[in-house]
Amino acid sequence: SSISLLGPADVRQLAERLDVRPTKTLGQNFVVDANTVRRIARLAGIGEGDLVTEIGPGLGSLTLALLETGATVVAVEIDPKLAAELPATVAAKAPDASSRFSVVLSDALLVHAPQLEVDGRTPTAVVANLPYNVAVPVLLTLLERVDTLRSGLVMVQAEVADRLAARPGDKVYGVPSVKAAWYADVRRAGAVGRQVFWPVPNVESGLVQFTGRPQPETTATREEVFACVDAAFAQRRKTLRAALAGWAGSPDAAEAALRQAGIDPKTRGERLTVQQFADVAAAHKG
Ligand code: SAM
Repeated sequence: SSISLLGPADVRQLAERLDVRPTKTLGQNFVVDANTVRRIARLAGIGEGDLVTEIGPGLGSLTLALLETGATVVAVEIDPKLAAELPATVAAKAPDASSRFSVVLSDALLVHAPQLEVDGRTPTAVVANLPYNVAVPVLLTLLERVDTLRSGLVMVQAEVADRLAARPGDKVYGVPSVKAAWYADVRRAGAVGRQVFWPVPNVESGLVQFTGRPQPETTATREEVFACVDAAFAQRRKTLRAALAGWAGSPDAAEAALRQAGIDPKTRGERLTVQQFADVAAAHKG
């Protein structure tokens, strides 16, 4: 194809020309390796006709690989300098794909579905090399607000990848694991070394794959279920009877809801699936 991906020299040149000094607070580590971005695009399973949203496109490394698949990309970038340069980068490196690319200058946490609309459609996939400090909230916010999303492939700090993909009973199973599971089947999809980035970060990265699935069946709303989840993990060493006392109104009310949902009140939250949390919230609601 006529698309050329960014290598180490391209990234440095672009950064120098734009006078970009990568900031840690915005998690700016740019991928300088074509194999890595191609691998991400391949694992995302996207192609011609798909509308993909990319969060934090930076200098465009991953963006170009996504365009290479034939997909249409609507990117969300918080840094004005980077957002402004992206159309020119796409025009230079992927001239035939320019009409399939647009960028929204915004904090991804503030974006709503209508801003991501292209030709009357909203994205069905999210692909991103996420800024590490906001990866989880950005992901959960998007999943909540863009209900057309069916799949995702994100690169995050390895530790965050483990937490997102954790199963009940795993040591790192917690709030992000349960909330992500509300929307999708989540699994680890490989590791990424530090050397593919500039500047080289001090943590390893991991890939996480999201496959949309029907949300748990329950009479409780998502907000009600998530409040129960937050309460359970706020005091994760306590039994659910104790941890959910404040949420339910009293230890006895918590115990009643748990029993009605078929859960031993002496269990801890780290053993419950998202469906079980939904059952507890529904039982409490009555
Ligand atoms: N995707 C590029 C790549 O792979 O080379 C850059 C990835 S870099 C880890 C993260 C990018 O996210 C940066 O461009 C940064 O400016 C942007 N960013 C940070 N916080 C953001 C936010 N809240 N909303 C949107 N973009 C953000």
